[in-house]
Amino acid sequence: MKPYRLAVIPGDGIGQEVIPAGVEVLRAIAAKQGTFAFEIESFDWGSDHYRRHGVMMPADGLDQLRRFDAIYFGSVGDPEIPDHITLWGLRLAICQSFDQYANVRPARLLPGIEGPLRKGKLDCVIVRENSEGEYAGQGGRSHRGLPEEVATEVSIFTRRGVERIMRFAFDLAMTRRRHLTVVTKSNAQRHGMVLWDEIAREVATDFPDVEVRFELVDAMTTTFVLKPESIDVVVATNLHADILSDLASALSGSMGIGPTANLDPERRFPSMFEPIHGSAFDIMGKGIANPLGSFWTGALLLDHLGEAAAAKALMTAIEEVTASGGPRTPDLGGQAGTADVTEAVLSAIAAG
Ligand code: NAD
Ligand code: MN
Repeated sequence: MKPYRLAVIPGDGIGQEVIPAGVEVLRAIAAKQGTFAFEIESFDWGSDHYRRHGVMMPADGLDQLRRFDAIYFGSVGDPEIPDHITLWGLRLAICQSFDQYANVRPARLLPGIEGPLRKGKLDCVIVRENSEGEYAGQGGRSHRGLPEEVATEVSIFTRRGVERIMRFAFDLAMTRRRHLTVVTKSNAQRHGMVLWDEIAREVATDFPDVEVRFELVDAMTTTFVLKPESIDVVVATNLHADILSDLASALSGSMGIGPTANLDPERRFPSMFEPIHGSAFDIMGKGIANPLGSFWTGALLLDHLGEAAAAKALMTAIEEVTASGGPRTPDLGGQAGTADVTEAVLSAIAAG
């Protein structure tokens, strides 16, 4: 029996609802497969920890996480604490310190689910640069509170950072329909974005089988809505892909469906897996959060661990529930709770 050490950080808001459900599902899949098991440790880091200790996680938090095979994460964000404190104190601290530079976000209409689009099929993967760009953290504020106050927010694009995410995206495109859309805003942003396009062209010469399309981010939003079937793999900056992937998740039916893998492709550090959504203040504590995004995220986690058969079995169980008109949470037009959907997926796993 192969043991995997899994760090679980439910975090805030509905993270505390969908992650325990996801852990149940991961344990069930492991039991069903019978060849591996999870050794799970949970961490109560997040906004309550901040209220008690003034920090989102302990000073040695990263050292504690380093020895795990993977991290299963919920969300951060609290109505009483500024978002930049919660995000930088936990999620970005982990992603950036562990150099999880490839943020991978599949989006697809699961069987039986009708998205908001009247026509066109959505089945894509967005690759988000996750270590620099607009979220590099460079900048500052001077003359605080005075009329001449100034703030800078500097985007950082390094040749190394852009090239490694490009190679990752091209490699992924080779495993799919061999089509890659490179998204930038290189008409208006003449430095970093032009470097991005140049490096894409350079890397493309190593992947002659991949068809490459260059698209500006504003136009890309319309492509998602009007011609989703033309999109396969997309590579974009930290900010652009953050925005496009929320759009893609909504187009696949709900913000509660999209999964995310924050990967260190070189496996120097544990990678982190999380649903795409945040704390969802408007529904937290009500027991109605859609757990499908955290389940799908579990499948990405299993794939990363090399448990492809288990990942496939989990996706099959999820799709059986969506296809068969099983219980649906309100975001998908139903009246079921998180627990009902979890039960249905657990039954599908047991029957599988
Ligand atoms: P959000 O994703 O939390 O919510 C957006 C909308 O989608 C809400 O109407 C919400 O009810 C709905 N939604 C999201 N997940 C759902 C689910 N599983 N089931 C049903 N409905 C769901 O985004 P927001 O409102 O912009 O952010 C709220 C807080 O979360 C903020 O503090 C923000 O900083 C934080 N946030 C954290 C992460 C993260 O930890 N990775 C990501 C995004 C936002
Ligand atoms: Mn986001």
